Amino acid sequence: MKTVGYAAHSPTSGLEPYEFSRRELRGNDVAIEILYSGICHSDLHTVHGDWGEQPYPLIPGHEIIGKVIDVGPEVKKYKVGDSVGVGCMVDSCQTCDQCHNHEEQYCREGMTATYGSEDRITGEITQGGYSKHIVAREEFVLKISDKLDISKAAPILCAGITTYSPLKTWNVKKGTRVGVIGLGGLGHMAVKLASAMGAEVTVISRSTDKEKEAKAIGGKAILSSRDESALEAAASSFDLIIDTVPVKHDFDTYTPLLDIDGTHVIVGQVGEMDEPVTAPLIMGRRRIAGSLIGGIKETQEVLDFCAEHNIHPDCEVIKPEQINEAWDKLQKENPSHRYVIDMTNLKVS
Ligand code: NAP
Ligand code: ZN
Repeated sequence: MKTVGYAAHSPTSGLEPYEFSRRELRGNDVAIEILYSGICHSDLHTVHGDWGEQPYPLIPGHEIIGKVIDVGPEVKKYKVGDSVGVGCMVDSCQTCDQCHNHEEQYCREGMTATYGSEDRITGEITQGGYSKHIVAREEFVLKISDKLDISKAAPILCAGITTYSPLKTWNVKKGTRVGVIGLGGLGHMAVKLASAMGAEVTVISRSTDKEKEAKAIGGKAILSSRDESALEAAASSFDLIIDTVPVKHDFDTYTPLLDIDGTHVIVGQVGEMDEPVTAPLIMGRRRIAGSLIGGIKETQEVLDFCAEHNIHPDCEVIKPEQINEAWDKLQKENPSHRYVIDMTNLKVS
């Protein structure tokens, strides 16, 4: 199928319209017309080469919402016209213990990412959601409830699941004291989801400038990570910290904020961190952990959780021509919402 997307041709080139083909449907494939596609900070990291060399041209995007336009003969769950989503993965081995355990993100053979990965059958490079169409195997396609506004649901597919998964893993419930570092795309979803689970949520930001935004989405308080006395006053006051900071930073500012047995979960920075001092870990059985997106079953769970609790990401909808500008703003202005690209008017020539 001939289609069009916005591709980067090098780490520094910016994104531009690019015509390419999606594969012919395999038996278990679903063809989707993409309507909305979220912009995740991982798209920038990947294209810029922060996580290693990439195959170009590369079309990023792994927060995808659209409608089914065709299905392969073996597809059971979906039919033409259904609202569906695709997140960060499009395939995995389906046979290892992790895949059997519904944690395809930790597939022993490595999952196939929505963009920049080799297709398991043809070796072709996968291309993501900043495009008009996508083809994905049924097992990696998510159902989108009628209760969700499809123009605002896309960020649930990455920002939502990436924060929901550690909240569930660390058993967040009514009264759990949760700190969220960085009020951006992931951070604002962490606040909404943890609040809906009954947690007391504090946003930990580089200043208190985002106080209004933090409180509007369910945060009880905002703590500046640059205010020594405020940090001291908040010592030992969190059970769980979700850390969404996208660059190298230090642990030592945050570990003392955890109570005994508290956990600091890194979801943001993939790579080096400043060396941590171990005393606050040892003295309080505190832990540092990490977490990668979530499995397909859990992604369906967070989509359904959002539908049930009427949770929508805060989205600023943009046109495809504004992608480069949005990338720039994401880096320079650090908005506390997600940019979502409206693909509905993108035309294949
Ligand atoms: P984002 O929208 O840009 O938000 C990041 C937030 O971090 C900013 O709003 C800002 O919040 C804070 N921040 C930015 N620069 C900072 C700096 N130099 N020092 C300290 N804080 C800073 O990004 P995102 O889309 O939420 O993604 C966040 C990170 O998660 C990215 O690295 C992304 O690749 C990663 N990610 C990981 C997974 C996973 O599976 N683990 C999945 C998706 C994304 P304040 O202004 O409030 O300080
Ligand atoms: Zn993402």
